[in-house]
Amino acid sequence: MKNFSIVLIILMLITFTIYIYYSKTTVKILRVYNPSSIAIDINRNGRVDVNEKFTVNGVETLTSLQSDYQRDLAKSLGIDEEIALGIGYYAEKYAQSILLDKNVKYKILPDGTINISFEAKNYNKIMQMSAFAIKDKKAINKKKFNEQASLVKKVKLRIYNNKSNKYHHLDCKYGQMAHDSVILPINSIPKDAKPCKYCSDKSYKNKIAKSIKQKPTNAYEVKVISEAKPQKFTISNGKIKLILTDFTTHFTVDTKCTSEYCTELLKNINNSKHSIDMALYGYADIPDVTNAIRNAIQRGVNVRMVYDVDKDNGNYYNDTFKIAKMISESKNDSIYKKSKYMHNKFWIFDENVVITGSANACGTDFSEFNANSILIIQSPEVAQIYKKEFEQMYDEKFHDKKEIIENKENILLGESIASIYFSPIDNIITDKLIPFIENAHHYVYMPIFVLTHKKLTSALIDAKKRGVDVKIILDATGAGNTYSTHEELRKNGIPIKVENYAGKMHSKSIIIDDEFLVAGSMNFSKNGESANDENCIVIENPYLTKYYKTFFNYIWNKIPDIWLTKNPPAESHYSIGSCYDGIDNNFDGKIDNEDVGCIQK
Ligand SMILES: [Zn+2]
Repeated sequence: MKNFSIVLIILMLITFTIYIYYSKTTVKILRVYNPSSIAIDINRNGRVDVNEKFTVNGVETLTSLQSDYQRDLAKSLGIDEEIALGIGYYAEKYAQSILLDKNVKYKILPDGTINISFEAKNYNKIMQMSAFAIKDKKAINKKKFNEQASLVKKVKLRIYNNKSNKYHHLDCKYGQMAHDSVILPINSIPKDAKPCKYCSDKSYKNKIAKSIKQKPTNAYEVKVISEAKPQKFTISNGKIKLILTDFTTHFTVDTKCTSEYCTELLKNINNSKHSIDMALYGYADIPDVTNAIRNAIQRGVNVRMVYDVDKDNGNYYNDTFKIAKMISESKNDSIYKKSKYMHNKFWIFDENVVITGSANACGTDFSEFNANSILIIQSPEVAQIYKKEFEQMYDEKFHDKKEIIENKENILLGESIASIYFSPIDNIITDKLIPFIENAHHYVYMPIFVLTHKKLTSALIDAKKRGVDVKIILDATGAGNTYSTHEELRKNGIPIKVENYAGKMHSKSIIIDDEFLVAGSMNFSKNGESANDENCIVIENPYLTKYYKTFFNYIWNKIPDIWLTKNPPAESHYSIGSCYDGIDNNFDGKIDNEDVGCIQK
């Protein structure tokens, strides 16, 4: 009896030791992002923590996401990209089926990757034998690999976007960017879903490819030298003209209409025959512009305006109510009485030309004292989209009372493809812009007024971690915003220069990979995305984008490196020209020599 008890105790001890040993060396797999990227529950709290995501060592595999690496891999495997993405999709499904929720043994290697095994089987071997993993860019099980390829060809996988109810080929960049999407065989896609025009219509795609090769017209070459003389920063390519204003060479504000932006505006007002619709945050009198609008009304042009009224029944700019009275056909958002702005700055002429961007109708923007990006687009199609948005607001439907406007993505504009978005309904930053950041391969440059948006901040940090060159030029008042995330970005190794000039860096732009440029009225803040009335355009055009990049580098090189770590006060001797411009640069109610920043040396 006594012996039996001892044996029992020993047995229990052994079981306990095995249990302790087992539970220490095995963990549950919580996520399988793709065959070589997983999350394991090291601390056993049942959820994925920051240091629990790993790359599985030595697993060479295809995935359903486009990348330069995968394109290269497809080439050496002798298959086209769409098939590679399809095999990648099945590889992900297979890895999930054998790994998810499994307890595995793991070992973290010195390079931070991980080795895993379960049920005495090696994961890499399983993947290679199923032909979902490869070795040295070659399929190990060639026969099986060819079977996978022909299966993919047969089922015709497509990316289905739940939100837009459109479907894309796996290698369509717009499909790859869609957020709320799933991959499905073509016969499982809802019957009423529409194919994406860009990737389904070969002639459309060819047309774009051909036109995008055309050289820009009236292009100015911008020389990137630190002491570049003041010059026009304007480029036209087909139906789009991009005006960038150089705030490093303009230190005075006047009410003359001599800038490229103002003279273009004037020309369009004077040429209008039928209608001018303007959605303006506010208006500060520029006599030439006011007179031109008055003349237009007198010759019978139907001039209408929508504008912002703030919660105190006022407007940021002095002459807004005066011009609204003169135009008479004007509406505002005063019935909403909330801290939401009608923050647009767009003009529609004869339902044919749209002028939009970050520039307000005021002296500081017309004089090129502030840095802005302005687009002039000649297109009845684009004008129709802006008109629909204007009509909603003219109907006194502002902010969250507006309805969604359909069919405003991937519009072919000769040399460019344009997609137009409106706040707050389009959830622009989260649903539209972040996917572009997530798909960036080479660089993301941002000349901007404000950056407080948290998800955008995370997306930029992730891009930097992937090796994308991320750079930001931020306005000095924007850097003073309590919620500005620029210090967090700096901590994560992203170079940010806070500008040191009198005028504001007032652009709200993103420039990506010599391919896409983003412009409009929307600041990169929560209010910009989900409260205000705003417009934002994404333009795919390599010439315009490269040109904007050159401009960005020109400004970047002019700002001293000291402002990579420090923030110059907006009204002080550190900000060039700000103590002599007659402007309250930092919104503290004090101008030039009254301001403490200008008194202190
Ligand atoms: Zn597509």
